[in-house]
Amino acid sequence: MSETRHTKVLIIGSGPAGYTAGVYASRAMLSPILVQGMEPGGQLTTTTEVENWPGHSEIQGPDLMVNMETHARDMGTEIISDLITSLDMSKRPFTAQSDSGTVYTADAVILATGARAKWLGLESEEKFKGFGVSACATCDGFFYRNEEIVVIGGGNTAVEEALFLTNFASKVTLIHRRDELRAEKILIDRLEKNSKIEPLWFNELVEVVGDENPLGVTGVKTKNTQTGEITEIPCKGVFVAIGHAPANELVKDTLETHMGGYVVTKPDSTETSVPGIFAAGDLTDHKYRQAVTSAGMGCMAALEAERFLAGEE
Ligand code: FAD
Ligand code: NAP
Repeated sequence: MSETRHTKVLIIGSGPAGYTAGVYASRAMLSPILVQGMEPGGQLTTTTEVENWPGHSEIQGPDLMVNMETHARDMGTEIISDLITSLDMSKRPFTAQSDSGTVYTADAVILATGARAKWLGLESEEKFKGFGVSACATCDGFFYRNEEIVVIGGGNTAVEEALFLTNFASKVTLIHRRDELRAEKILIDRLEKNSKIEPLWFNELVEVVGDENPLGVTGVKTKNTQTGEITEIPCKGVFVAIGHAPANELVKDTLETHMGGYVVTKPDSTETSVPGIFAAGDLTDHKYRQAVTSAGMGCMAALEAERFLAGEE
């Protein structure tokens, strides 16, 4: 028989937004329940050094997230390893069904489901996912010692992944569709100084090629965005780093979204169009998408949830 748990505040997601909301909601004596989802700790668990979290010149992403989890737990957040599969916002209390069968009912909900890696959508990319195609250098880089690798993209993630992969690979080709990176200057400087990285400008991946038996990547075909010329590059690994899309599955049909699916919140607020439902972090943020801004929004969401509940009493 499925269990039903009631809480004043249900926090969905365990990235910087969710854990910060947990700290603030706990200190407001709201005894929040936080459901972690499939990726406990969120996106920062897929990276190495984080150099822009205030108070640490450098900290490993997974360590930072363990610290945040411990902090939220110590303050009184109940942290549950589960996945929310649906959320009914049509009546109060709000009802969330979960993968474990537990039903969570809540007077207020903080959505902090973050974002997930985007894929190019090529048939060959899908075919070789897990067999040479990856979106996580820290997870899979180790498998490519002394091999040639390509990275697709031109943002912070692509440049950081390319730099990290030089720890293993003999050569990293950074394939970007323009000749200008949108990564931060400090990362571009490091890229330019790294002799193992070779940029390939004005090129797009058109096909991942490989062997059938055993399944594995042997190279990629790219197309010049200006001339249409096809280039073949031998490689064993393909890392796709073309950005992230908001993880909005729970609310995409019920809450207003914009800019490719980001949940709309009221100006200077985490309030959504449904009173009592708040949204924080990368789920709502198409602009900054940083750990510190997500944490800031988690704080705002918990404070706003507290005021909302106090106003109802
Ligand atoms: P996320 O970190 O995306 O976490 C989302 C959480 O929601 C996860 O715990 C997931 O399990 C959970 N979830 C999703 N769906 C459900 C569900 N249905 N039920 C329950 N839980 C669910 N930012 C920086 O400031 N500095 C950096 O150095 C930096 N490096 C980065 C490196 C990489 C490789 C990447 C990908 C991002 C990096 N970022 C960095 C960006 C930063 O990680 C994000 O801005 C931040 O993690 C967003 O936090 P969030 O709490 O909104 O969500
Ligand atoms: P991003 O900034 O959105 O960059 C995505 C890159 O992929 C862009 O260069 C884009 O090209 C390219 N791209 C997008 N779609 C493509 C397609 N279909 N084919 C080919 N190329 C494509 O994403 P991100 O680098 O993952 O960063 C996401 C957020 O996390 C950002 O806010 C970033 O600052 C943050 N982050 C921060 C750090 C850090 O602080 N150290 C590290 C990682 C991530 P165009 O440039 O041509 O659009």
